[in-house]
Amino acid sequence: MDTRRDFLQKLSLGIGATALTDLPASARELYSGPKADKQLRVALMGLGSYATRVAEAMKDCKMATLVGAVSGTPSKLETWKQKYNIPEKNTYNYETVGKIKDNPDIDIVYVTTPNSLHHKHVLQIAAAGKHVICEKPVADNAKQTREMIAACKKAGVKFYIGYRMHFEPHTRELIRMREAGELGKIMHVNNYMGFKSGDPNQWRLKKALAGGGAMMDVGIYALNGARYATGEEPIWVTAQETKTDPVKFKEVDETIMFQLGFPSGIMASCGTTYAFNNYERLYVVGEKGFVELSPAFGYGPIKGRTHLGPMNQPVVTHQTLQMDGIADIILNNKPDPNVTGEEGLKDMIVVDAVYESIRKGGAKIMLAGK
Ligand code: NAD
Repeated sequence: MDTRRDFLQKLSLGIGATALTDLPASARELYSGPKADKQLRVALMGLGSYATRVAEAMKDCKMATLVGAVSGTPSKLETWKQKYNIPEKNTYNYETVGKIKDNPDIDIVYVTTPNSLHHKHVLQIAAAGKHVICEKPVADNAKQTREMIAACKKAGVKFYIGYRMHFEPHTRELIRMREAGELGKIMHVNNYMGFKSGDPNQWRLKKALAGGGAMMDVGIYALNGARYATGEEPIWVTAQETKTDPVKFKEVDETIMFQLGFPSGIMASCGTTYAFNNYERLYVVGEKGFVELSPAFGYGPIKGRTHLGPMNQPVVTHQTLQMDGIADIILNNKPDPNVTGEEGLKDMIVVDAVYESIRKGGAKIMLAGK
């Protein structure tokens, strides 16, 4: 049996419809097998560190192939042509990228530029009639995200967010357990994600390019995790901010605690920071059991335990599974998973509310109508 194809078939059913307990224990098994006949042909836009990680991970993909690149730096395009065997005709800069419309050899563009450029770049790609994957955070705010969704809809192209955790086996097992009722009624979630930010001159600390700070960059994992751990959509938000280094974090948030209230009456207590390391955990507790993932959101290996003992899930390269998963969905017309633009919008509505609550001194922000 082709275990990998089987796995991908399960992935493509979307969160909630899968049973992953029969996954192979070793990643090697998962990555074995030939390339599929049909390939999703991908161009990366913004050739920085994450694009490089994706390109390396795609070497193991079975259904997705890196075929194109978009960069403002000619020397980078040269390097990428050599390194990843990308033909000249599939390379673009930010001014010529609209011409990708006339290139039948590229199916989808993966936008991996700084956060505040996502809006502009996704609109450009949609206008060129290509499917698009956009890195997280999808945009600076919900308004921009709505415009991106509308543009993709109008152009008739698919719009996904690089929410790689949705393809990660421990995460999927947690969702399966919750949906199967194995945790009982969910009672509480406690998620946090942060790290100590380095270089004070990086774009991540500049509001005009990052949109915000830790909340935008990694707090989004705690937030998205609260949604998939509960299976509910929050109805209110409160948030508090502190800065231990107001000089370095002059423009963007450093440390934020936020709380989400859900329709069932339960709360999620979440945190995010750019000020310290060893801050990465998802904890969901129900009436019958719990799941703890720690680390929970980074590149892994993700580790997990439940009320039954250690989780026995394969260690994978998230980006490989994400790209193959999205390829399978597009090429084989499978239902969309929880990584669509609409999912990004649900998170951005909450991010907006987190910042609004902070501006209003921790006020409770109701999400209805936002
Ligand atoms: P990076 O700085 O390493 O790369 C950004 C790229 O964008 C660079 O190649 C840069 O040259 C290019 N760029 C284009 N226009 C630019 C401009 N005006 N200013 C600055 N750079 C410009 O950053 P990165 O870590 O690769 O992050 C890129 C995106 O990927 C971000 O949105 C980030 O949130 C996301 N990301 C996601 C993950 C994940 O696990 N899903 C991990 C890291 C980064």
